[in-house]
Amino acid sequence: MNFDTTFIAQVIVVIGFAVGLSIVVASGCYPRHIRASLRAYAYGKFLLGFAFLIAGLRGGGMPELFIPLANGIGLAGLALNHTCVRHLQNRPVWRFGPAAVGGGVALCCLILLLSGGGLSAVRTLVSFVAAAILLVIAFEVLVRYEHRGVPHHITGLLSTTLAVVFLVRMGAGLIYEAPLGQLVDDTVERATFLLSLLGTVIGAINYILMASDEFNRELTMLANTDGLTGALNRRRLFELGEVEFRRARRHGRELTVLILDIDRFKAINDRAGHPFGDRVIQAVADTCAGQIRREDMIGRMGGEEFAILLPETGGETGRLLAERLRGTIERQLTPLAAEGGVAVTCSIGGVSMTRDHSQFSDLIAQSDSALYDAKNGGRNQVRFFPAAALQAAAATA
Ligand code: GH3
Ligand code: MG
Ligand code: MG
Repeated sequence: MNFDTTFIAQVIVVIGFAVGLSIVVASGCYPRHIRASLRAYAYGKFLLGFAFLIAGLRGGGMPELFIPLANGIGLAGLALNHTCVRHLQNRPVWRFGPAAVGGGVALCCLILLLSGGGLSAVRTLVSFVAAAILLVIAFEVLVRYEHRGVPHHITGLLSTTLAVVFLVRMGAGLIYEAPLGQLVDDTVERATFLLSLLGTVIGAINYILMASDEFNRELTMLANTDGLTGALNRRRLFELGEVEFRRARRHGRELTVLILDIDRFKAINDRAGHPFGDRVIQAVADTCAGQIRREDMIGRMGGEEFAILLPETGGETGRLLAERLRGTIERQLTPLAAEGGVAVTCSIGGVSMTRDHSQFSDLIAQSDSALYDAKNGGRNQVRFFPAAALQAAAATA
């Protein structure tokens, strides 16, 4: 097959507009940062479509000054691919980046043409900028992306391959002086257009897979966490608790469970208002999250009550951590408490797993019972489910 570049450019125009239109229509149903990413991608495809439309028309005797325009628009579209990857990861983006790239390239092309640099100089410059943007995209998805999967690797590989193609085109531009108007006829140009077409198709498929991956992760996160505090929700905490429990039992490892409840929280709400109460709940969750290890888990059991799972942690260490948590919450929340004219303390009940425990819910029930002791003992204190009572319960069973 020996397609000419004008035909390839026309196919890219059709694909670019079709993909852009489909994505912009579908983007409305997605959460904000994914929607922003989808739209940036779609606008990138529209710009690419326009650029190739203009480039394709050149064969029909378009004025020479359309060259800077086509290249500027095309590279702004390519730069939007970078913007959309950053949106996907919820990273900050420079809104005017693509416009600056496009405008800068168009201006440089114009200067080159007006100063008699010729098409080869334009091709060299544009190829260099395209390769640079593609390499930045490859770096973003292959190195900086946090949850990389197969589509990310394919996208990174594709961007790198296209960058190499553009670098070859740049090299060709440096050594081969094409006469004006015949640029689209040479082999390197045809190969570049053909690979750009392949890149448009494969890139679009993989980008949609990346966006869907992000959406699934967001849904999973929403399904597993509590909206107010970001802690695990009760269902997920129990799921992970069962897993940790079985693991600890099978390998004879330690596991401690704490239940923390804010003292006299009803009074805090009554006195300072429900929104202030919410802030207290958030602050307690943040303080706890800041005190525990990465492998520990915190979940909101409901209201102002949290459960904390401490794998590989025995009774003594668990008690020390619980005491540290209680003290830190009392200390760190003093300014917030003063703001609401209330006192914020918490009571903690805990239990460490022994061979007598047969299921995770036993640990929850016993730490709850220890919490009840802490409340009865005057609040703002830590109590653990007593080992003696545990043994007595096992003996009578
Ligand atoms: P104790 O020291 O015995 O724990 O007393 P308490 O007042 O903290 O306990 P109680 O269970 O009677 O009160 C819990 C209150 O928490 C009642 C409920 O209105 C409030 N609450 C539950 N969920 C939320 C929430 O999401 N936000 C706010 N602000 N309040 C909540
Ligand atoms: Mg309470
Ligand atoms: Mg409570």
